[in-house]
Amino acid sequence: MRRKNYIYFFRRAFVAMLILAVAQFVPSLSHARDKGGLSILRDAEIESTLRLLSEPIFIAAGLDPNSVRTFLVRDKTLNAFVAGGQNVFLHTGLLLAADNVDEVIGVIAHETGHISGSHLARYEEGLKGATAYSVLGVLLGAAAIAAGSGDAGMAVMMGSQEAARRSVLSYSRIQESAADQAAITFLDKTQQSSKGLVSFLDQLGEQELLITKNRDPYVRSHPVTSERISRLHDNVNKSPYANAPSRPEYVEAFKRMQAKLFGYLKPPEVTLQKYPESDQSLYAYYARTFAYYRQHDVKSALREIDTLITRYPHDPYFYDTKGQILFENGFLDDAVRAYEEAVRYEPDQAMFRISLAQAMLSLEQPILNGPAVKHLQFAVSREPYNSFAWRQLSIAYNRAGNEAMQRLSTAEEFLLTGKLEPAIVNAKKAQESFEKNTPAWVRAQDIQMTVESLMLQRGQKTKPKKDSSATQEHQHGYVSAYHEKYQELNTIWAMH
Ligand SMILES: [Zn+2]
Repeated sequence: MRRKNYIYFFRRAFVAMLILAVAQFVPSLSHARDKGGLSILRDAEIESTLRLLSEPIFIAAGLDPNSVRTFLVRDKTLNAFVAGGQNVFLHTGLLLAADNVDEVIGVIAHETGHISGSHLARYEEGLKGATAYSVLGVLLGAAAIAAGSGDAGMAVMMGSQEAARRSVLSYSRIQESAADQAAITFLDKTQQSSKGLVSFLDQLGEQELLITKNRDPYVRSHPVTSERISRLHDNVNKSPYANAPSRPEYVEAFKRMQAKLFGYLKPPEVTLQKYPESDQSLYAYYARTFAYYRQHDVKSALREIDTLITRYPHDPYFYDTKGQILFENGFLDDAVRAYEEAVRYEPDQAMFRISLAQAMLSLEQPILNGPAVKHLQFAVSREPYNSFAWRQLSIAYNRAGNEAMQRLSTAEEFLLTGKLEPAIVNAKKAQESFEKNTPAWVRAQDIQMTVESLMLQRGQKTKPKKDSSATQEHQHGYVSAYHEKYQELNTIWAMH
């Protein structure tokens, strides 16, 4: 019971945090990008690859893999850092620069060392505001995935400002050593070689000679010294797994990730040089798919991805990529078919369900409303902070003539995008339509309470809710939990 209450309040606080972040930043989203805000890239396949590589390490470190989150940051520079608790951030620049999968695993193990060591506490003490700030950006991104930005299955989101990146700084040399040592321990426990970490740092070691502004941020956040590298060399050589070969499935996933990122992020002509038509590997076809797609050469993009589908007919990510290309070019029927295949081979992937439902709804055929609702319900159960999914769900309910659920979904979307007044209006309308104390009614009331408290805290005029069946204790607990977060946020905003 206690635990349940805790989760309940935590969830409330979380939503409140989210909404504040959104309210603060949404108006300047487009600018955030120009100013170099932290942008989170989402892609079902890459997220799954990062999970594959990092989960055994988190477990070896005694962490709950479900509570550590790994984010992909769209940024050319080389960096990896931990912020706001158990959140690991990896720059696309680092993933592209890595020579092999062991380097990426080594970096993840090192970051995990910072989490599992006492570093985080000390680290956050001085920079509490800044780290929480950067995480708000991430939460915002998660909420706003919305834009659905249609970038070949990837949505790019902007969050906090440059400040976040600048501020998430520098561990001490002692902490660096400790994180290296911890990394070796985790890698030993998982019977993997730590040589990747060494070779990665070897590359960076040369940057010590550069002037600060030319160094990669990684070198600033994790001081690389020749001493550190030589100690690491010694320790790695003592490991019984120093020469353990990389796991084939990791190598495969890593190469796919690099090909996809390369094709997606680098100029198409550069991609076509690195992966010329003569290269018949899976990776080359994959990278070229994205290069052609970005050149708006739909025919060639489809030819490349179809070759992969013929070769690997059970691979959900190839169907996902194909679905995206088709959808964006207006081939809606075919997009639905491609996404259906993706869902068929990977039914647990919320992002596939959202894409499929979006394509279905775009066809505007009444017969597809029901299936779209089903896919979106599944998606929001996995990703409750995905406002885009909620918006699609409200469209689907509207078409299906279910006004009560449409109101509730709309309220969810507005809550996540910081549109407070309309969130309350919809939450109230939803409550009127549902039977009291049903889960949907409770949730609608939940949203109303969250938004009202939020408005009160922000000093906006709002009518206190009279018709609440919540107990005093319940309300009090919620408000305090929320209040604490709010104070923290105010401090953060004051700092910037
Ligand atoms: Zn470090």
